[in-house]
Amino acid sequence: VIDRLSRQRVLPGVGRAGEDTLRAARVLVVGCGGLGAPVIQQLAAAGVGHLTLIDDDVVEASNLNRQTLFRAADIGARKATCAAAFARALAPDVDAVAVVDRVHVGNVRALVAAHDVVVDCADGLPTKYLLNDACVREDRVLVHGAATAWSGQWMLVAGARGPCLRCLFPELPAQDAVPTCRTAGIVAPTTGVVGSWQAALVLKWLWKSSASGGPLGESDPGADFHSVDVKRGQTRVLAVDADPACPACGAAPTLTAQRASDYEMPACEDDR
Ligand SMILES: [Zn+2]
Repeated sequence: VIDRLSRQRVLPGVGRAGEDTLRAARVLVVGCGGLGAPVIQQLAAAGVGHLTLIDDDVVEASNLNRQTLFRAADIGARKATCAAAFARALAPDVDAVAVVDRVHVGNVRALVAAHDVVVDCADGLPTKYLLNDACVREDRVLVHGAATAWSGQWMLVAGARGPCLRCLFPELPAQDAVPTCRTAGIVAPTTGVVGSWQAALVLKWLWKSSASGGPLGESDPGADFHSVDVKRGQTRVLAVDADPACPACGAAPTLTAQRASDYEMPACEDDR
C-alpha cells in the first residue's frame, strides 16, 4: 500500500489524511463498460476503500475497442465479476464487490443510500435519470457521465441541493432522438477522457469533504456541465443553476415515488 500510493501522498493537501479519507469512502460504480473502465481503474489505483461495481452484462468482442478492463480471454464472462477481479488484483487493499444486476426502481434507493458517491457509467438514459433522482432523494453525490462517438459530457450533482441533471434536461428524450454506441460508434479516447474526468471529480469531492480540507484550493468541483468534442479538440463548460421548478430537486418535486413508468423513453416524437 505504501509504495503504490507514495506519489499520490506527496501531493500538497493529500498526505496520510487524504489517503485515510479515500480508504473510508464507499463508491458505487453503475456500469462496468467504456466509462466504468477508467473510473474503476483510477479509483482502485487511488485506494478508494470500497467499490461496488454493478452491471448485468457479459463481455463481448465488440466491447474490447474501449472497455480496457477486459481482455480477449474474458469474452462471455460477467463484466462486474471481471471488473472486481481487476480492481482487487491491482489494489489488494481495495474491497471491490461485484453485483451482477441492473439498477432499477426496486433496488436503486438502497444501493444509492449505502454509498457516499455514485458514479454514473451506465449506457442507457433511463438509468441515468433514475440515478439522478435517487441521488437527489437520498442526498448522495452523483458524478454523471455519458459518451458516444467522439462526444461526451460530465457533471457533478451534489445531492439534494442540486442543481441536477433534470434542471438542464427535465424529461427523458424520445428513443430515436439519442444516438447509441451501437449505431453511432465509439472510440476509447472518448470514454477515456470522460471517465477520467469522472474519477477526478470523485477524488476531488472526497478530499474536499474530508477534515483535511483536501488539495483543491480554487479548483473546487462546482455545478458545471462539461461537454467535450474529442475530434475537434473542444471542451465547453456551462454553469448550471438549480431550477426551483425542477421535477427532481425543485421546491415541489414530482418524481418522489420513482415509478417504473417515470423512466420509459417515448417510442418516437410522432407518437406523442
Ligand atoms: Zn434539478
